Amino acid sequence: MAIMVQKFGGTSVADAEKIRHAARRAIERMTAGYQVVVVASARGQQTDDLVRDALELNPNPPRREMDQLLSTGEQQTVSLFAMALDAMGYRAISFTGGQVRMLTDGVYSKAMIKSIDSDFISRELDQGKVVIVTGFQGVDEQGNVTTLGRGGSDTSAVALAAALHAEECEIFTDVDGVYTADPRIFKDAVMLDEISYDEMLELASLGAGVMHIRSVAFGKRYNVKIRVRNSANDNPGTVITEEVPQMEGVLVSGATIQKDMAKIGLTGVPNVPGSAARVFARLAQAKVVINDIIQTEISPEKASLSFLVSTADLPTAKEVAEALKTELHCDGMFVREDIALVSAIGVGMRSQYGVAEKMFGALAKAKVNIDSITTSEIRISCAVDKPDVERALEAVCTVFELDKPARLRSKT
Ligand code: ADP
Ligand code: ASP
Ligand code: MG
Repeated sequence: MAIMVQKFGGTSVADAEKIRHAARRAIERMTAGYQVVVVASARGQQTDDLVRDALELNPNPPRREMDQLLSTGEQQTVSLFAMALDAMGYRAISFTGGQVRMLTDGVYSKAMIKSIDSDFISRELDQGKVVIVTGFQGVDEQGNVTTLGRGGSDTSAVALAAALHAEECEIFTDVDGVYTADPRIFKDAVMLDEISYDEMLELASLGAGVMHIRSVAFGKRYNVKIRVRNSANDNPGTVITEEVPQMEGVLVSGATIQKDMAKIGLTGVPNVPGSAARVFARLAQAKVVINDIIQTEISPEKASLSFLVSTADLPTAKEVAEALKTELHCDGMFVREDIALVSAIGVGMRSQYGVAEKMFGALAKAKVNIDSITTSEIRISCAVDKPDVERALEAVCTVFELDKPARLRSKT
């Protein structure tokens, strides 16, 4: 029997009526002949509320206890979901990540999934039950509860879909699908019918919070068909899938901004083999995720090295950079917190020219100063002053006509 995994985000299960509505979605799939696994997030803003509760008692809560606490939001939703299905006359059973043996490493607040006991879930499905699993969490080898990072329920869902060889993983949220830009910021953004895993990976890593980045990486690795859709309507949504040749015909598929980041720089770094390796080894040891790295040779003896980190990682990254400044005998260290990133993403950049020129021209016209530029094969990112970033996004969206479906954009 084919399996469907359905993930419901916080707003889609925010109250009893929404849980009932989500439960009906699961029933629709069952009636259509699927075995259904539901992955649910904490209701509404509950995870934020739990974070606030923790910080009220301890400004620097032990990481283990934080994960133990935050996991409880999802635990409430799954049992409520099972109760809703039971009241509608369907058999359902809820589990925590630990109960379905979703094993992770022991890195609290950004744990990585190592394995899942899919046989355990299959046995329940074979008994005709809807299986409801908490998103966002697992357990490490020692049985400690771990969480996968904010927004991590998407990753739980796609990982379960991969482990169970599900036909599709539906991500139900509060927008119709993946848009050319965050529709809350760029009002004229349009929904994409489909997007490649690589583009979605870039969008997610550059601030499109609609999908947790590791969920897309799982999807790509195990070829899971992911469909992002609105829990409130029947719009078919956006399919995240393998790249097909016509995708390259679109120059830019989407644009993002990222505000929760900061830039750290080391100046006068000894220009000798091993300096950069030492810096990034130490940051990796401290589990700091690095976004963009820029190194420039200033003289034969000295280089300047800067990188972007999320504001969540900033305190740790700053501490490491301060220590490295002394150890490597650098001239200085600086932190810029007033910076944000605007990015344009599209697999079409591989084969078409003129993207950089268009993007920089649009930013110049909007009087946005560019602090630094980084690129990959399929994206261009510019660090700009934080107060300018929304204007920058508007300029980028306008120049690449992201307010129109790709087929209606001009060909030049
Ligand atoms: P959920 O709680 O369902 O997981 P999220 O808040 O994590 O929902 O993700 C949905 C939100 O992602 C939308 O409300 C939207 O504001 C935001 N978003 C950011 N970029 C995009 C984009 N390119 N397309 C669609 N939504 C986006
Ligand atoms: N509840 C968690 C969060 O708010 C996980 C999720 O919703 O995906 O980050
Ligand atoms: Mg989310």
